[in-house]
Amino acid sequence: MTTGEVKRLILRDVKGWRGVFGLDEWTLHLRYDRLDDEMVASCMALWQYREATLTFDLEQIVDRELGRGAIRKTVLHELLHVVCCGYQRHHKREQLEAMVTDLERIVEHCWKAPQPKDS
Ligand SMILES: [Zn+2]
Repeated sequence: MTTGEVKRLILRDVKGWRGVFGLDEWTLHLRYDRLDDEMVASCMALWQYREATLTFDLEQIVDRELGRGAIRKTVLHELLHVVCCGYQRHHKREQLEAMVTDLERIVEHCWKAPQPKDS
């Protein structure tokens, strides 16, 4: 994949999901920049202003050969950080990261799972 293709997929996912995540009223800034070695994406959100900046390291995503599913998970993870950023004041960074990772797993499981039967 090229950086251009990765960027298009990220944009598509953010556009497709922001409503589902209740972020339609938020201003989401997307940035494409180099990040620290361990990270392919990051999120800086200001809950009180409903404004967040999501940064994606396109070159690192390409270098690591992340596929469609992994890119989607990355976008999902960062959007969940936006959703959860109001809790920043009450939780340590590690706790928040664990919470977001748990939610990511749950959301992923829900979209893969068959529709629950009505009982
Ligand atoms: Zn995270």
